[in-house]
Amino acid sequence: MTARILVVDDLETNVRLLEAKLTLEYYEVLTAMDGATALQIAGEERPDIILLDVMMPGMDGFETCRRLKADPVTRHIPVVLVTALDGREDKIKGLEAGADDFVTKPIDDLILFARVKSLVRLKSVMDELREREESGRRMGVDTGGAGRLRGSGGRILIVDDSTVQAERMVEQLSQEHRPVVERDTAAALIAARGPIDLMIVNVSAAEFDGLRFVAQVRSTEASRRVPVLAVVDPADRPRLVKALELGVNDILPKPVDPEELSARTRTQVRRKRYTDFLKEKLDYSLEMAVTDALTGLHNRRYMTGQLDAMMVRSAQGGEGVAVLMLDIDHFKVVNDSFGHDAGDEVLQEFAVRLATNVRAIDLPCRLGGEEFVVIMPGASLEAAARVADRIRRDVASQPFPIMGGAESLTVTVSIGVSASGDAHDSPDALLKRADQGVYEAKARGRDQVIARAA
Ligand code: GH3
Ligand code: MG
Ligand code: MG
Repeated sequence: MTARILVVDDLETNVRLLEAKLTLEYYEVLTAMDGATALQIAGEERPDIILLDVMMPGMDGFETCRRLKADPVTRHIPVVLVTALDGREDKIKGLEAGADDFVTKPIDDLILFARVKSLVRLKSVMDELREREESGRRMGVDTGGAGRLRGSGGRILIVDDSTVQAERMVEQLSQEHRPVVERDTAAALIAARGPIDLMIVNVSAAEFDGLRFVAQVRSTEASRRVPVLAVVDPADRPRLVKALELGVNDILPKPVDPEELSARTRTQVRRKRYTDFLKEKLDYSLEMAVTDALTGLHNRRYMTGQLDAMMVRSAQGGEGVAVLMLDIDHFKVVNDSFGHDAGDEVLQEFAVRLATNVRAIDLPCRLGGEEFVVIMPGASLEAAARVADRIRRDVASQPFPIMGGAESLTVTVSIGVSASGDAHDSPDALLKRADQGVYEAKARGRDQVIARAA
């Protein structure tokens, strides 16, 4: 995943060096040499990430960061502060200014790339979320809740054999999150299948193979998507590289700095929350794409796809398929006499009658308006016609409640029936024959079933 990165530093050599390194990794690089220019470029170019030097004459990195985070146009762009090696004070001030991450000078390339990659991922899910909220608002739908997604309250699993280090991390993280420690990797692997927002793994552990553990987490379906923050000795380059290759989301160099731990944890927890939120919305919209909103039956799109597939199997020698086409009689009168809402109540009740009178493998669908279809795999024309008549009688004999049950009316339905014939039969032809059945039933006085052989 590539990205546009704005590099801000008052020293030209620093800017050029970072630019060269990032360009080699195929990032697109923008540059600025003071805070004011950085603000301007950020507003105009909307980079994906800003690498911001703390020490600059005039407007320093903290002030620049504060202004970026105060402006709605640039607020969502992750800011990485570049601080001095022992800049503990800087980190605290940076967090207060709204910085999302830190790297220390001299910059370690591998660690820098890990940070950038992690933040690019975070930003891309957040951008997607903002886009969906935007289009949701335009359509008058409240996608709600995204604004509440925070990087705090995370369920964090610390996998570490060092009691001292684990306890320090727990102490730091308890202020904002719910950390638990697991020393045993087998137990941790089981815990990882639960509702975990982040795993912090000591990949330099002495008592277990941390890299192997990360590989197991990543290859298990239930834990694959849990973010992993790897605690690693930065001098152990091969291990660091391997951890990144295995797909850890970020690196926490040993000895663990408490502020850095907090900042990285917050970023990962936030991204997890956003990703979960998006996935939930996606599942919901996928369901909406195949479901009729008023009745909860399948919609036309779903019906068409299923019928096509069944007809292909049928033509290849599989079982046949029958179709019922149903159209409520004089439905317009219901709307005209009792109002559109009463009409909707009738449609909903009709869907219930339909669904309760067919087999579990049959597919009751609403085509639109007061027209419905039932797809019946394996049913003969005769069997389908019997089911159709059962539905017809059920509808006609039991009045439909309307206005929340205050009134009721008698409803009737006309039904056409067809069943697949030879290998040349098509879904369209099948539906057409059922439709002709409906037409004939209407012509003959409604409230009846007409079956049409191929
Ligand atoms: P016929 O017996 O010939 O089928 O007559 P009909 O009145 O049922 O048929 P027509 O197709 O003339 O009218 C269908 C009506 O269904 C017209 C339309 O306003 C109404 N309708 C379509 N969709 C909905 C809906 O979602 N809710 C409600 N309440 N009415 C709907
Ligand atoms: Mg009708
Ligand atoms: Mg109609």
